Amino acid sequence: MPTRSESAVVEAVPTGLFIGGSWRDAEGSKTFPVEDPSTGDTLTEVADAGVADGHAALDAAVAAQADWARTPPRERGEILRKAFEIITGRADDLALLMTLEMGKPLSESKAEITYGAEFFRWFAEESVRIAGRWSTAPNGAGRLLTMKQPVGPCLMITPWNFPLAMGTRKIGPAVAAGCTMVMKPASLTPLTMLALADILAEAGLPDGVLNVVTTKSTGEVMGPIIKDPRLRKLTFTGSTEVGRGLVEQSADGLLRVSMELGGNAPFLVFGDADLGAAVDGAMLAKMRNVGEACTAANRFLVHESVAEEFAARMTERMAALKVGRGAEDGVEVGPLVEAKQRDKVAELVDDAVSQGATVRCGGAASEGKGYYYPPTVLTDVSTKARMYREEIFGPVAPIFTFSSDEEGVAMANDTEYGLVSYVYTRDLARSLGVAEGLETGMIGLNQGMVSNVAAPFGGVKASGFGREGGSEGIEEYLETKYVAIST
Ligand code: NAP
Repeated sequence: MPTRSESAVVEAVPTGLFIGGSWRDAEGSKTFPVEDPSTGDTLTEVADAGVADGHAALDAAVAAQADWARTPPRERGEILRKAFEIITGRADDLALLMTLEMGKPLSESKAEITYGAEFFRWFAEESVRIAGRWSTAPNGAGRLLTMKQPVGPCLMITPWNFPLAMGTRKIGPAVAAGCTMVMKPASLTPLTMLALADILAEAGLPDGVLNVVTTKSTGEVMGPIIKDPRLRKLTFTGSTEVGRGLVEQSADGLLRVSMELGGNAPFLVFGDADLGAAVDGAMLAKMRNVGEACTAANRFLVHESVAEEFAARMTERMAALKVGRGAEDGVEVGPLVEAKQRDKVAELVDDAVSQGATVRCGGAASEGKGYYYPPTVLTDVSTKARMYREEIFGPVAPIFTFSSDEEGVAMANDTEYGLVSYVYTRDLARSLGVAEGLETGMIGLNQGMVSNVAAPFGGVKASGFGREGGSEGIEEYLETKYVAIST
C-alpha cells in the first residue's frame, strides 16, 4: 500500500477517548495539541480526559473482565494475530505517523513497527500455552492442582520514546492472558496508540477489553484509578522518578506492579575486543532511536589501550550521520522529542565540558526550528560529570577509560540503574566472568542491541522489576491458584 501524505496519515487517526468500544469526547470536550518536534507545529488535537473519563474507562474494563477471561485462548490469540497482520500491512503509514509525532527517522519508526507488531504475533502463540501443574503431595496423601488465571483489570502507562512497542509489549500479554485494560499513552505521542486501538477493534477485540485515555492532567486522572479497589495491576514504562511515585500509590491496593524504568547502560570495550565490531555495536547502542532509549549506551567504558582508537573511529562515524527531519529520505538522526529534552542534553554536555571533557564532534544545540541536537562524542570525561550518573537520552557518547577488568566492572556497576550492559571482548572466560559480575537485567555480549520479543526484557536496581516479552512476559498478567485435593 503506498504511504499516504503526512496530513492524510494524521487525519485518519481517531482523536477521542476509546472507552467501552466507542470513541467519545472528553468531559467538557477538552483537547490538547500534539506537536511535530521537527517543526514545533501542531499536528492535531486529541481528547484531554478528566477524572470522570478515567473512571468511565475503568468501569468499562471492569465490566468486560469476566466475559473476556472466559473467552477461549485461541480466540484471544487470533485477535492478536489479526492485529499483527493489519499493523504489518499498514507499516508505512504507521511509521510515518510515529515519525511525525515523535521525530525519529522513518527507518527507526519502521523498525519499531516491526518490533512492536512482533509482540502480538509472539503472544498470539503464547495465549494457547498457558498451563498449570498437577502433582502428588510429597507424602502421597493428596494431589496438588495449580492453575493460572488472568490477574484482572490492568492500568498501563507508557512513555513517548517507543509509542507502539511499549504498548504492544503490555497489551499483547494482557490480551493473551485474558486481562482487560486501561491504557494511558504519553501525552507527547498519543497518536500511534490511538491508531493501534482502532486496529485492535478492527481485529475483533471485544468492547471494553482495551480502553485508551489521553490526558494532560496525568497524575490527577491516574491517581483515582490506581486507588480504585477494582484495579488489579499497574504496569508502567517510564522514568524512575515517576515509577517510584506510582509504586507508592499502588501500596494501598497492594497491586501487582511491573516497572520498566530508566537506564544508564555501560558499554564496556576490553583491550582484546574486535574494535570494528565494537564501533558498529556502539553506534547501534547509542544512536538507535536518536539516543532516546532506556537501553541507550550512556557511558562508554573503554580499556586505556584502545581508548584513543575507539574514540577516533566513533567520532568519524558520529560526525558523518545525516541530521534532519525524520520524515525525509536518508535522514539518520531526527530531532529530540521536545525542547525540554534538547535543553537537558545541552545542559549535560555543558556540565561535562566545564569539568574538562573534550568535544570531538557536535557539542552545541542546533539553531532554528525543531529540537535538534547534533551527534556528539566527548573524551576525557570526568566521572564527576552529571552524565556519568544521569540518563542522557540523546545522541551524546561520553568516553571514559579503565585499566583493569575489576575497574571496568566496578565502573559499570557504579550507578543506581541496572537495565542493560554491553560487553565487547573475544575472551570467553572474561566475558562470562564479567557477565556474572554486572548488576544488570540484560547483557549484550558482542552485540549492540538486546531487544527481542522472545527474551525477558527488564531491569534490576532503580531500573525496576518485572519482565516483558519471552515466556516470562505473560506471567506478569497471570495469578497462580492452588487447589489441595484430598485423595
Ligand atoms: P515519564 O515522564 O516517566 O512518563 C512516562 C509516562 O508516565 C507518560 O505516559 C506520562 O504521562 C506518565 N506520567 C507522568 N507523571 C505521571 C504521574 N504522576 N502519574 C501517572 N503517570 C504519570 O517518562 P518519559 O519521559 O515519557 O519516558 C522516558 C523514560 O522512560 C526514560 O527514563 C526511559 O529510560 C524510560 N523507559 C524505560 C523503558 C524500559 O523498558 N525500562 C523503556 C522505554 C523508556 P505524560 O506523558 O502525560 O506526562
